[in-house]
Amino acid sequence: MKRISIKWKLTILYTLFMMILVCITWTLLLSLSNREILSSVKQQLKDQVYGSFDELEYEDQTLDIDSDILNMENGIFLSVYDGQKKFLYGKIPADFPAAPALKNDELHTVSANGITWYTFDSKHTLNGYGDVYIRGILSVTKTEASITVLIRMSLFIMPVLVILAAVLGYFIIGKLLRPVNTMIHTVLEIQESEDLSKRIPGTKTQDEFYRLAECFNDMLSRLETSFQREKQFTSDVSHELRTPITVILSHCDYLMEQGTLPKDCQKELEIIQQRASNMAKMVSQLLLLSRPNPNISPLNVESINVSELTEMVVEEERIPAEVKQIQIYAEIEPAIKTAADQALLIRLWVNLINNAIQYGKEGGRITVTLQKTNTNIIGAVMDDGIGIEPEDLPHIWQRFYQADPSRTSEQSGAGLGLPMVKWIAEAHGGHIEVTSTKNIGSKFTFFIPIRNL
Ligand code: ADP
Repeated sequence: MKRISIKWKLTILYTLFMMILVCITWTLLLSLSNREILSSVKQQLKDQVYGSFDELEYEDQTLDIDSDILNMENGIFLSVYDGQKKFLYGKIPADFPAAPALKNDELHTVSANGITWYTFDSKHTLNGYGDVYIRGILSVTKTEASITVLIRMSLFIMPVLVILAAVLGYFIIGKLLRPVNTMIHTVLEIQESEDLSKRIPGTKTQDEFYRLAECFNDMLSRLETSFQREKQFTSDVSHELRTPITVILSHCDYLMEQGTLPKDCQKELEIIQQRASNMAKMVSQLLLLSRPNPNISPLNVESINVSELTEMVVEEERIPAEVKQIQIYAEIEPAIKTAADQALLIRLWVNLINNAIQYGKEGGRITVTLQKTNTNIIGAVMDDGIGIEPEDLPHIWQRFYQADPSRTSEQSGAGLGLPMVKWIAEAHGGHIEVTSTKNIGSKFTFFIPIRNL
């Protein structure tokens, strides 16, 4: 029941409710109707007998009995008897037993040959003639048989009605819940495109769904404003920091070039220079991450040879890798081309290979591979370094997250490298995956769809 949609849940509940209601109604009707029908039948029998005395007339020493007595209205057999209870006229059912004694105003139940009958006798005095009896006979078995037919019919009709109601209910509930599906689609679209400017379309009726959509849109507007504010703030701060960092770096360069500083001061200056260049890297990464959604502000896309670009980055990265005696092996499929932002792709490779060097072991190896399928470019960087703990893996894509800050060196950034790699892959319509084992190594693989300009 947990995984069933609301549409199905409501339909099932509603159908169950209908079934219970039908069962209760059916049982009530059955017991009532049986009793009601039989008592109304008895009443009918009496009325017919009483009414039939109008068909008798005594005139000119003759008793006239109207032939209407033979009509068998409502299946009632009528017969007329004289004061000595001798049969005069009328109809008696063929299988009716030898007449039981006539009694005045009494209802009897007579059974014979598997049939049950109601009989009702009534005595009347005709002026000049004397007493006459009229007897009415009605088959109870036949009446009950017609009730049984009714029950059988309802046994078939009721389930059909319940099924019809369930099908109808399913469609009506589906129609009522359509705004919820629209909301789900919009939310998924927003999630996919990360475009907070999208809004949920309003419903035609001003019902609860309309209000829910309004509340949701309101929340989206607020989120959009606060995200924009945050991005603007990051971008402004980064811009403001760029100039003083550049000034620090240029002063450091100048002092280093002079070569007049004592050795220990030179060492301190190198540390300042190192930290300042780390800050410069961080600021430029922050500036990039604070860019608006790539769906809204497009990338600087051009047709590029990814194979050549990767080879170039690998060659450049061999220099820092040598510091740790790390060998970089490249398996690059030639002439892979796509439309992409060249600067961003370089940044993606550099960040991944830098991390592999950073967290790789002394004298280890890094493998860089590039290949393509019909639809995607698949790039991977594999190292045999320290690896990542499983509980850290889901978080390494978050800004400023460092799995174990104590093991990060002065060379490392501030936990912005991987968020940027992810951002670049997604900005190109792709994605990135990671597999890692502690003390064995890590493998980062990105997939970017091939596009032609
Ligand atoms: P940082 O500037 O700290 O390198 P990143 O965003 O590039 O920031 O990486 C986030 C964290 O993921 C790092 O602090 C590190 O713990 C972990 N990490 C990234 N790449 C690797 C790798 N190749 N091997 C092991 N750990 C890694």
